[in-house]
Amino acid sequence: MVCTVPEPQSPLPSLRVLIAAPRGFCAGVDRAIQIVELALERFGAPVYVRHEIVHNRFVVDRLRELGAVFVDELDEVPDDRPVVFSAHGVPKSVPAAAQTRGLTYVDATCPLVSKVHRQAQRLIEDDHYILFIGHAGHPEVIGTFGQVPTGSISLVETVEDAERISVPAGANLAFLTQTTLSVDDTAQVVDALKTRFPTIRAPRSEDICYATSNRQAAVKAIAAECDRLLVIGAPNSSNSLRLAEVAERLGVPARLIERASDIDWAWLGQPTTLGLTAGASAPEVLVREVVDALRSRFEVTEEIADHTPERMIFKLPRELLPDRAA
Ligand code: SF4
Repeated sequence: MVCTVPEPQSPLPSLRVLIAAPRGFCAGVDRAIQIVELALERFGAPVYVRHEIVHNRFVVDRLRELGAVFVDELDEVPDDRPVVFSAHGVPKSVPAAAQTRGLTYVDATCPLVSKVHRQAQRLIEDDHYILFIGHAGHPEVIGTFGQVPTGSISLVETVEDAERISVPAGANLAFLTQTTLSVDDTAQVVDALKTRFPTIRAPRSEDICYATSNRQAAVKAIAAECDRLLVIGAPNSSNSLRLAEVAERLGVPARLIERASDIDWAWLGQPTTLGLTAGASAPEVLVREVVDALRSRFEVTEEIADHTPERMIFKLPRELLPDRAA
């Protein structure tokens, strides 16, 4: 069998690695991970977690080693163990079922996702029909749909959907969005909705979260200088996928990798400048791992391209704070 992976050269060729900032963990992911860690301290292992707490295998594996048990559904959680709900949010029926069973549960839903949940509930109370811009099957979409009665919300994924979707006759329309979408694509879908339904109600403030917008803007800021771009993130991480798309649309070939071992050296070739970023659920240790792997094949010069400094921190649930512990 012929090996197609190029061998390192000697001497090593030069490579400028332009690292986007902000990148990696957002405040919602940081909070969700801390919630599982604090729940393990407070209740001891095992602590059950419904769904991946965040979309990152490295994070999930580390928490598993600490004693977290990841399950798909609530009925896999024993009556006497606590359960944490993931950062993406859950349908209302999930905490309701936990309550009925008398389970101890902690909700790690990102506060920015909870904000969208509250907006959806208020719109229904205010007699609106919701057009929700998002990706079918994403846990955040499932969670948000689960906040409102069936038949009061429809999914719009694309401009074509916006142009064709049928809505109940005479309905007061409003739209909301998933928090981790492409800023540019969403603007086009919103334009299409507003063109077709001029009176549609828009959210008071942007639903795409600060972390998603900032990471996309940081990629745009470095794209013109990059020959290639690597995005560290999981294949099911919406915000990570969007980062690769942003680069590709600006003409920069981009790859999504989970960690250094996924680098396709043949694809990478010998760029002069390589852009590097990480999705909101990818820890910084994976960025360092990728830079170290690059150093085994290149004479690397690192540069950080700081675009929008972030200082967002979300409060932890009070019941997990140390002075509240029994
Ligand atoms: S990407 Fe945005 S919405 Fe999702 S957890 Fe992070 S801050 Fe919250």
